[in-house]
Amino acid sequence: MPRLALHWQILVALVLALLAGSLTSPESELLGVRILDVYAFLGTLFMNALKMLIVPLIMASIVTGMAGMGESDALGRMGMRTLLYYLTTSLLAILTGLLLVNLLQPGIVDGGPAHEALGLDPVPAETLQKVEGRDAGDVVDIFLRMVPPNIVQAAANGQMLGLIFFSLLFGFFMTRIESPYRESLDHFWQGVFRVMMRMTDWVMWFAPLGVFALVAKVVATTGFDAFAPLLRFFVTVVAALGVHFFITLPLILLLVARVPAWRHYKAMLPALLTAFSTASSSATLPITMDCVEKNAGVSNRTTSFVLPLGATVNMDGTALYECVAALFIAQAYGFELTFAQQFTVVLVALLTSIGVAGIPAASLVAITIILGAIGLPAEAIGLILAVDRVLDMMRTSVNVFSDSCGAVVIGRLEGEEGILRA
Ligand code: ASP
Repeated sequence: MPRLALHWQILVALVLALLAGSLTSPESELLGVRILDVYAFLGTLFMNALKMLIVPLIMASIVTGMAGMGESDALGRMGMRTLLYYLTTSLLAILTGLLLVNLLQPGIVDGGPAHEALGLDPVPAETLQKVEGRDAGDVVDIFLRMVPPNIVQAAANGQMLGLIFFSLLFGFFMTRIESPYRESLDHFWQGVFRVMMRMTDWVMWFAPLGVFALVAKVVATTGFDAFAPLLRFFVTVVAALGVHFFITLPLILLLVARVPAWRHYKAMLPALLTAFSTASSSATLPITMDCVEKNAGVSNRTTSFVLPLGATVNMDGTALYECVAALFIAQAYGFELTFAQQFTVVLVALLTSIGVAGIPAASLVAITIILGAIGLPAEAIGLILAVDRVLDMMRTSVNVFSDSCGAVVIGRLEGEEGILRA
């Protein structure tokens, strides 16, 4: 019997998870074992397996990618194009969020700030007064982590920016040493990279089971009740993410890369569904790389440069979410933001989306930084916690999709012919 394609298996798992999750309450037991614990166990096992791949995969792919570009102009050119792509799409995402949150005004209920309807304490008057004059200390801190004092510690703590920076340097200087050491290192890292890709294939076999467990757990614990009071916020975020996912990125694919988006959606389905279930771009990275190379046909050279970098640096969904969430909280507290303050939100959302890690709920830290920058108390973040997980799943899929579109666009600009040709 032919095996069902992986993305169908994952989709079936997702539907079953919604069903199973809504039938399970946190107390449900089967043969004396809490069902929720079983979901949690299987889900964590799958997440761990994915995370286990990340450090060697990121290092090997960036080092081989950099070394492959050697001393040619290709490196500078590709680097510039990649950065330009990341910045443009993140900015477009934030502006989409800004537009929709101003249009739909989810934080205003019956013409007034929603804090009462949502059961929030009003912000003390003195907080409202000290709006200006916040320094950017927290943002600077994110960038300090880019150059880690201890690379082993950075890797152990999941500080991917530091690991990426070190790997970029390592790959670059590998091309500057003499034979035979250069060839030895080249073979070594190529070997590591191939092993990591094989291991990814193996872990992907378990994706349907992992996805089932992760999603069933979320549905069983979050339930649907949490959504009612925050429905308008939820809808605003989903609408903005939808515009970016279904309109902006496809237009970029069509206009710049000249490929129809539906083919790319199809190619990326396993990665998108994994991103949705894990809510972690970093954990999804191995699968993203697999799909972009094998299904979309982007060269290994482009994939291994654009994607590991993108998984940490390029987070369109996150940037958009930060902007919508911060403005929603401001609206709900009756806080009128001036143009300059909205501009601050856009800028800090852009910068923090570069710096935050690709792990679940990472945006929350960034949002508290934005709240600080416009003078709102960090505790106000409590307002959105109830719906954060589900929105995290969605924004992570958008993050991963944007990275993969970046690989397609850069690959096409580099003159690759085989991308997404049916
Ligand atoms: N979970 C997101 C990611 O991994 C980051 C975030 O927005 O919280 O891409």
